[in-house]
Amino acid sequence: MLERLWKWVIALTDWAVGTDWTSEEEHRHARLVAGVLFVMSIPGLLYSVHFIVIGVVWMAVAVALTISSATASVLWLRYSKKPVTAGVLGVTAFCCLLTTSAYSTGGFYGPNFAWLYVIPVFAALLANMRTGAVFTGIVLLVTVGFWLAERHGLPIVNFIPEEERSVRSLTDRGGAILAIGVAIAIIASRERLGSKKLGDAYDSLKEEMQQRELLHDRMIHTERLASMGKLSAAVAHEINNPMTYVIGNLQALQEDEAYDEEEQAELVRDALDGAMRVSALVKDMQVYSRTPDKRQHDDVDVEAALDTAAKMVGNRVRYCAQFRMECEPGLRARGSEAQLVQVIVNLLTNAIDALEGAVEDNELTIEATACSEGVWIEVRDTGQGIPNDVQKKLFEPFFTTKDIGQGTGMGLAISRSLMEGMNGSIRFESTPGVGTSFYLVLPAAGDEQVKADEVTVSTATTSAEVLKILVVDDDAAVLRSIRRMLGSHDVQTEDDAKRALQRCGEERYDIILCDIMMPSMSGDKFYSELKATQPTLESHVVFMTGGVLTPNTEEFLASVDRPVLRKPLNLDELRSIVTRS
Ligand code: ADP
Repeated sequence: MLERLWKWVIALTDWAVGTDWTSEEEHRHARLVAGVLFVMSIPGLLYSVHFIVIGVVWMAVAVALTISSATASVLWLRYSKKPVTAGVLGVTAFCCLLTTSAYSTGGFYGPNFAWLYVIPVFAALLANMRTGAVFTGIVLLVTVGFWLAERHGLPIVNFIPEEERSVRSLTDRGGAILAIGVAIAIIASRERLGSKKLGDAYDSLKEEMQQRELLHDRMIHTERLASMGKLSAAVAHEINNPMTYVIGNLQALQEDEAYDEEEQAELVRDALDGAMRVSALVKDMQVYSRTPDKRQHDDVDVEAALDTAAKMVGNRVRYCAQFRMECEPGLRARGSEAQLVQVIVNLLTNAIDALEGAVEDNELTIEATACSEGVWIEVRDTGQGIPNDVQKKLFEPFFTTKDIGQGTGMGLAISRSLMEGMNGSIRFESTPGVGTSFYLVLPAAGDEQVKADEVTVSTATTSAEVLKILVVDDDAAVLRSIRRMLGSHDVQTEDDAKRALQRCGEERYDIILCDIMMPSMSGDKFYSELKATQPTLESHVVFMTGGVLTPNTEEFLASVDRPVLRKPLNLDELRSIVTRS
């Protein structure tokens, strides 16, 4: 029954205001105004009949005015789609009605007078607070007018016959209660609309922020890859040099057996040294290209980060300036190593671009010390400096003075955003023709963080014991090499992760060394299945990776907190992880 009544109300208000509103909220507001006008028109109709019957023309005119302004507001709603204006018209109608009613039923002391005070509330609800304030003023004026009229003995005509007054007063009071009920309904519905609107706004803002963050991260990564592209020639040089004697020495050993023991040892030592250099460079590049996890700031070994950055640009620096790096020993900052390296590489690249002339005349210096805010890093060059008009725009995205293909203009904008992301700062001083200094400040490292590689492998053994180790990797050469490296232990190898899982069910291993990227089953899948089938072995897993990690894999590794060995494996590192109990 109630439901049907509600449907009729909706249909009636829809008929009044139309349904082609651009927003659902506006539509609801319009319906509300129309609904209230309908409710108000019922006593209006009764009054008109009453006044026409007793033949008071001017009262009938006042009521006609009420009804016409109510109609005008409905039409306004329907054709101009402005609920606020319609609300104001509606309240005006209400005002006419109540003033007439109050005047005709006892004036200032009459039962209808109290109705007047409802008007501003309706005005505020149907339109807005300002309209409410205007109507408060009107009602106050009317009140003062009535009060003055009565004080000065102006005859207040009471058209309600004596015998009807109690009944009229009852209906008026009922009407007032109804009006207050409607007002409360409006408040509740407004509140709902308001909170929904707020909720929607919050959701869309959140979505926009997420989009921006994503875009920002992509931009940082793109800029990093772009600068890696610029560095690729230098990197190739750094790799090809040592590879010349790695390959040369190994071929010499393979083809010529006439070397004595000492010469053989030297050939092997040099080849190993070259391979280590390449491996270190690749590791540095991985640090640089890795997408850092913004939420997780680590303790950063500042010297190592500066070293990595210097190596990345080393080959370019060598041909344009005398390079000097001074770092206070043991300096640690709080932040992300990859991000710090990215910032320093960018500063060094810019400095190199600004250096002209002979190597002996140019200086490029990095200094790092502790300071009151944490860690202070300065990158100083004796290049051409930055002109005053350029200085203002330096951190603006896409601002560059370099030729197309030489600069993206994003380096410093991104550097600043990275520094701020680590709760640090970046600023510069430059004198045209003399040189430029960039200053970085980072918070000092705290000691609350447990480092990931301090996670231990749960084996109830001591380092002297022979461990049963399963190595899972799809590359047979890697398996052979690890078996050789861990020769003193019982090492079993498996090139198929599914078969490895089966073996784990049959035998008990102290350590399971597992590659992350495998064709038949990825390392993370292997780990999850092992956890499900052999929960006790989960803490025996050590991961190995060639370095190319997807964001999902990075997230997985961070979540499981297992040790990770990065290839190429280092014998000492491998042994220390294996024997750590
Ligand atoms: P990009 O290097 O791609 O141009 P950046 O944001 O890293 O973008 O640098 C913006 C501009 O700032 C550069 O084009 C250059 O004009 C100026 N600049 C930055 N560092 C230096 C410096 N050490 N010496 C002179 N000019 C610099």
